[in-house]
Amino acid sequence: MKGCIFCQIVAGEAPCDLVHEDEGTMTFMDLFPVGKGHLLVIPKAHSENLFEIPEAELEQVVRHTRRLALVLRQVFSPDGIAVHQLNGAAAGQTVFHYHMHLIPRWDGDPRAMHGRVRGDAAEMAENARLISAALAEFSD
Ligand code: 5GP
Ligand code: ZN
Repeated sequence: MKGCIFCQIVAGEAPCDLVHEDEGTMTFMDLFPVGKGHLLVIPKAHSENLFEIPEAELEQVVRHTRRLALVLRQVFSPDGIAVHQLNGAAAGQTVFHYHMHLIPRWDGDPRAMHGRVRGDAAEMAENARLISAALAEFSD
């Protein structure tokens, strides 16, 4: 979809720190992370939100979200992992292409849902590499 930043990432027209890609989904680092290891899992096909996404695509995204949560836990040993997904501007959604956030959390972390500062490029690239390598070894 024209003008959608996540469609541009899927098309290779905009960069991202890629963690995983398959036929239907993509996983990459959030550009404005709330904390270390903040990931986004998206369907490749454009759907604005939960109201629009076809069930079969949602199933693929959820399957990956679960696997990535297990992998994040293994890689970073957080105290918890927040998974959230916003529908509509009123709910706080800012990119209107369906996505699941995965955010490792440590005790005492502020519970923000959006970061304000662009992540350090080298750190995000390294985290993408670590998560991707752990995912390749992962079996459930
Ligand atoms: P939402 O508010 O829609 O749930 O979350 C959108 C998320 O996308 C935000 O956490 C924001 O930091 C992230 N984001 C916005 N633009 C880009 C981008 O160009 N690349 C990446 N990797 N993340 C982005
Ligand atoms: Zn899109």
